[in-house]
Amino acid sequence: MKINIYGSLIQAYKICPRQAWLMSRNLVGNQQDESLAIGRLISETTYKNSKKEVRVGNNILDIVRPENGKIILVEVKKSSKAIESSEFQLLYYIYSLRNSNIIGEIRIPEEKKIVPIILTEEKKTELEKLISEIQDVLSKEKPPISKRIKYCKTCSYNEFCWA
Ligand code: SF4
Repeated sequence: MKINIYGSLIQAYKICPRQAWLMSRNLVGNQQDESLAIGRLISETTYKNSKKEVRVGNNILDIVRPENGKIILVEVKKSSKAIESSEFQLLYYIYSLRNSNIIGEIRIPEEKKIVPIILTEEKKTELEKLISEIQDVLSKEKPPISKRIKYCKTCSYNEFCWA
């Protein structure tokens, strides 16, 4: 079974592979079109210093075009917790949009941190390995077994896993 990969699925997988498996069988909305939606907004964001907002999964990304003509995909987070999952989600958008002008940025105002996300060759290899791992795990007939983690509390599959 071929799984359609999209940014929110990668983010979910980094947090909990079971959550990603369940998401892949229960698509809500048009998540597969995330990259398309971002790409469309990027082409609309033609003016310098302009900004647009796009909702992807549970996150809101800002698409910012600063003076230097680069396009920045910005995700604002409350803390650096699970930052790696957001990093790979942003890397995936940059990768799938195939636009070398795009860079990512995770901003954590409460920690006064800005983390640049750049698709280097090394990150690209890591991402491709991750995508292939996700394909393997998510194409299995059964989901990975439940493992209680701190995100279970707020996960929409909580009842399914633990009732
Ligand atoms: S409730 Fe916990 S184990 Fe189940 S999918 Fe969510 S995060 Fe994963």
